[in-house]
Amino acid sequence: MKAIYLDNNASTRVADEVIEAMLPYFGTLYGNPSSMHTFGGQIHRKIENARQEIAELINAEPDEIIFTSCGTESDNTAVMSALQSNPQKKHIITTKVEHPAVINFCKTMVRKGYEVTYLPVDKSGKLNLEDLESAITDNTVAVSIMYANNETGVIFPIDEIASIVKSKGVMLHTDAVQGVGKLLIDVKKLPVDMLSLSGHKIHASKGVGALYVRKGTRFSPYMIGGHQEKGRRAGTENVASIIGLGKACVLAKKYMHEEHTKIKALRDTLEQGLLESCPNPRINGDTEHRLTNTTNISFEYVEGEAILLRLNEDNICASSGSACTSGSLEPSHVLRAMGVPFTAIHGSIRFSLSRYSTDEDINIVLDRMPKIIKELRELSPYGREVKAT
Ligand code: PLP
Repeated sequence: MKAIYLDNNASTRVADEVIEAMLPYFGTLYGNPSSMHTFGGQIHRKIENARQEIAELINAEPDEIIFTSCGTESDNTAVMSALQSNPQKKHIITTKVEHPAVINFCKTMVRKGYEVTYLPVDKSGKLNLEDLESAITDNTVAVSIMYANNETGVIFPIDEIASIVKSKGVMLHTDAVQGVGKLLIDVKKLPVDMLSLSGHKIHASKGVGALYVRKGTRFSPYMIGGHQEKGRRAGTENVASIIGLGKACVLAKKYMHEEHTKIKALRDTLEQGLLESCPNPRINGDTEHRLTNTTNISFEYVEGEAILLRLNEDNICASSGSACTSGSLEPSHVLRAMGVPFTAIHGSIRFSLSRYSTDEDINIVLDRMPKIIKELRELSPYGREVKAT
């Protein structure tokens, strides 16, 4: 049975064009790009070509792109680099809704003597920029704020954030893992110092990411070893995945506008249909500044994992903010930070679409969901009281 895959913020299908571009590097083109011989040298040139393709997607210079193994490594490297480059300062600012790649990294730094400010968000997931401005002190070494939230799709105003942070002379990193390929990002106009992206969120493979580091930014490597990436990230390159990431960026740039009109229309049909057919739904997150592929909806008095299991019977893939399904012991820290009631967090479902999502996928979900919610609510003592609106 074909999967109805609506979990693209977790991972995306690798594009056929990307697989095709990668294949030779698992076969005949196996040389080491650092080797002196022509056999390896030709691969070095292909890597530089991919670097150029990635740079073009965000309007960076190729030598501002460093390859990493994933978004998490890019995030960790960015913040660690700022701390190591400026060891006398001990204060980091981030938000309560970051991905664990930033939040848990910051928690580790607290144990090493750093103070961390986690900026709050309001009930629609938005930041108050006055909180940011007043949190910056002479001791602040780095600010790390995400571009777009993976759970709700809420987009932060990184341009305004950047002008506040840069006016105070502090290093700014943005985790743009969910933004790159979905939103037009131009680092020539956006004064961030570092920006993270990840291959498997944009139809490239898992195990590859990149970190943009603006020319002139003090940089201290996280991975120490050989001279790869001009000494900024040691380790033999994941050649096939890097070539694939380059191709994925070319495709994202080419189809971004066209795709996102289509994806938004599908997402809106899905969301509107669920709002009309399921009693008492609640959309989590600011619907005005939001990724066009994401909707996060709560159905109170129903367990998110129960919904996912029922969807799974029809091979429909989505995510939930409830604890068990997210692989953690705690329900979504993002929805908690937004003050979403626990009954609604437990019944939250995220659908995230991609260029491969179809009308048929959405119609099947719209057919199944009302029945699932109705049946599950009938099993719940509180749910039975929720009346159709
Ligand atoms: N940052 C955000 C916003 C993400 O959504 C993710 C992955 O879900 C990551 C970082 C981590 O990326 P990776 O899975 O490539 O390590």
